[in-house]
Amino acid sequence: MDVVVIGGGVIGLSVAASLERRGADVTVLEAGEWGRGASEGNAGWISPGLANPVPAPGVMAQAVRWMPNRRSPLLVRPTPRLSFLRWSWQFWRNTKPGRYGAGMAALAGLGARVLDDYDRLVADGVEMEMHSEGLLFVGRSAKVVRAEVAVLREAQALGYRGRIEEMGQADVLRHEPALGSAIAAGVWAKDERHVRPETVTGGIVEHLEGRADLRSGVAARRITPDGGGWRIETNTGETIRTPRVVVATGWQSTDLLAPLGVHLPMEGGKGYSVTVANPAVAPKGTLYLLEDRVAVSSFDGALRLAGTMELGTSSRKVNPGRVAAIEAAAKRALVAWDGTNAIRWAGFRPMLPDGVPAIGPVPGRPGLHVATGHAMLGVTLGPTTGEILAPAVLGGRIGAELAPFSLARFGNRSAPSSPAQSASDAPVAGSPV
Ligand SMILES: Cc1cc2nc3c(=O)[nH]c(=O)nc-3n(C[C@H](O)[C@H](O)[C@H](O)COP(=O)(O)OP(=O)(O)OC[C@H]3O[C@@H](n4cnc5c(N)ncnc54)[C@H](O)[C@@H]3O)c2cc1C
Repeated sequence: MDVVVIGGGVIGLSVAASLERRGADVTVLEAGEWGRGASEGNAGWISPGLANPVPAPGVMAQAVRWMPNRRSPLLVRPTPRLSFLRWSWQFWRNTKPGRYGAGMAALAGLGARVLDDYDRLVADGVEMEMHSEGLLFVGRSAKVVRAEVAVLREAQALGYRGRIEEMGQADVLRHEPALGSAIAAGVWAKDERHVRPETVTGGIVEHLEGRADLRSGVAARRITPDGGGWRIETNTGETIRTPRVVVATGWQSTDLLAPLGVHLPMEGGKGYSVTVANPAVAPKGTLYLLEDRVAVSSFDGALRLAGTMELGTSSRKVNPGRVAAIEAAAKRALVAWDGTNAIRWAGFRPMLPDGVPAIGPVPGRPGLHVATGHAMLGVTLGPTTGEILAPAVLGGRIGAELAPFSLARFGNRSAPSSPAQSASDAPVAGSPV
């Protein structure tokens, strides 16, 4: 029952928690500090209603319109890197309605259980800061709100169980006094929740201490086959042998998998956040400023703005122009915003070109598993990812719920003689790629 999980973000730690609760002997390797990748400064939404994959119909045209504006919600930095060009082409192919619809069905299906999986984690003793006031989408035009309502209704038709309530301006301002009169309308997704994301990773680490072998500051450098199992070489000069590995290294997952011949077309979707302590105004719950694509999350004693997507860069620097655009959106929407002494942060969403995560065994490589590519939904889907992956890791049981997330969709194929792998390798019904 030995398993080594590589990556100590919300995904790797959630997988480790699910494995541990099933009695596995788990080691977790984290190159830096726990939860300091994309899992740190994000908006913290548990938002199963947002099941729409990023490559949506119309997104390319929107991206072209935004291209000249370096402060727009989406910035594509042209780069001649072959893998980026190939990824962009695959992304474009996935904006076709059929593929988008299949991706949305996959995400909505998974989303139906995320609140239960969070509740289970809490019942297991993981302490975190969680809020349940729902998520209020607001727009300066009623049209943009209507488009969001359509997305939520589509998610409901596909299994999303959350309730929604449409609101005119007066209702929105009554419901959320932190909003100013520039807001024209809104839709309240009443059952969405949010967490302070740092408390989820921190809470899981605390819970696993003494129950799992947790090693921070240890980076996996290379994974190679070793008899029937795997050998992991680390930056500390150690070699770890194990029958089962889970790679959950976020946007950097390709680094470990490509040398093994595993195809996982990953790009980092850079995003930013701005966090202030003791904010000038404290919204009740979370807000989504639809035109600007900016998230506003109220935490205990703090307020965080988060948003923007930047593709084609791997620089970790905080770009002041991108952050200023986020703060300008807050100034337009809220009755007050003061960013003095704010903490400004940048992180990379792990983005696969179909907007759907890769969760499951690597075809043809028994014992090697992947959990990554959660894009905008890593916090939302973390505990659920752990719960659906753990039975496959420990018992080779590949449930139907894993099918849409199979790595086979990227052309990874198993040897025909491996029965344990064949289920994951079958052509995936409704696969978005
Ligand atoms: C601005 C912004 C806002 C967001 N808001 C939300 C939101 O509201 N709700 C939501 O659901 N999602 C949100 N997301 C997305 C979410 O943050 C990500 O999907 C999620 O954090 C990805 O988690 P991860 O564990 O896969 O990756 P990461 O958190 O990046 O973790 C990967 C870890 O692997 C480690 N690692 C890498 N290589 C190695 C190696 N070789 N050996 C050992 N360790 C290694 C890294 O150090 C890192 O700690 C947001 C993202 C951004 C950028």
